[in-house]
Amino acid sequence: DTLGPTICVGEILVEIMATSVGEGFLAPMDLAGPYPSGAPAIFIDQCAKIGGSAAMIGAVGRDDFGRLNLDRLAADGADISAIAVDPDYPTGSAFVRYRADGARDFVYNIATSAAARLGWTDRVADLVGRAGHLHVMGSALSMPGAARVIERAAEVVKRRGGTISVDPNLRKELAHDAATGRLFSDLVGICDLLLPSGDELDHAAGAAGTDAALARLFDRGVKEVALKQGRAGATVFAPGCPPQHAPAFAVTELDPTGAGDCFGGAYVACRRLGMAVPVALTYATAAGARTVMRRGPMEGAATRAELDAFIAATPRIAP
Ligand code: ATP
Ligand code: MG
Repeated sequence: DTLGPTICVGEILVEIMATSVGEGFLAPMDLAGPYPSGAPAIFIDQCAKIGGSAAMIGAVGRDDFGRLNLDRLAADGADISAIAVDPDYPTGSAFVRYRADGARDFVYNIATSAAARLGWTDRVADLVGRAGHLHVMGSALSMPGAARVIERAAEVVKRRGGTISVDPNLRKELAHDAATGRLFSDLVGICDLLLPSGDELDHAAGAAGTDAALARLFDRGVKEVALKQGRAGATVFAPGCPPQHAPAFAVTELDPTGAGDCFGGAYVACRRLGMAVPVALTYATAAGARTVMRRGPMEGAATRAELDAFIAATPRIAP
């Protein structure tokens, strides 16, 4: 943490969700929200709230949806100096409705919102020039402006002796072209920590099967892989070390969105604060579990004291 804050670049959104399970938005229905959202913003919020030094790079509109996000991030301790306020475009939004099988239908306004209109400003340059760690959210790479800032920030942070983490966060709804695929692969190749979930591990490694994928990643220089496994908890792999597993906490899942982002924010913050893998894993799995208990992707983000209380009071799911 001494080198400078953890930074993350990308979409800042509000999420508005259907309170009923079903398909799509083709008729009037009850909605809940707006909730502050956007995977990079959720990550930074949890990172800051647990006590890590954290700063967000992104853009919001000059509207209440923007204010909601700025106020939440600032209240939770994140540096918002490099968030632009776009005078012309509204804050990005995502309407989401869960289907009965757990899949989600979305109506996005990201590409044509303030969220996608970010670039390399003086404030961004100032922040990146004093950052110690860059966390890359794969979802942000689908926005050309964000992809350019991430590419440049990665160079600056590496040159300063900082570290990089990557959460592939691949959304099938957000298509990637060939150039974006190459940038993603280059970022995986220079990252210190990878935080995949499910088949993102194989995809990021370009290899099939956990052992082959890990071998390929360690070969490329990745130092640590934190695999998110939902209700099955999480496992950290590092070259030459036995895997370290943490079961999930037993909670009732109300809204799974944001669990991976809060897990990541807590894990990166704890590791950068000098905590050992098992301690960071405990906080990260607790942060993920708290997130799924609440409606809204950022509503479960917690302070270290709140997580300590949650950990003391909540049993783990038996393996
Ligand atoms: P997202 O759906 O936000 O993209 P993800 O797929 O990246 O998330 P998950 O594995 O779903 O990541 O969640 C991250 C962590 O949160 C898990 O490793 C687990 O510790 C915790 N978690 C997720 N879902 C649950 C659950 N239903 N019960 C308890 N803990 C959970
Ligand atoms: Mg998940």
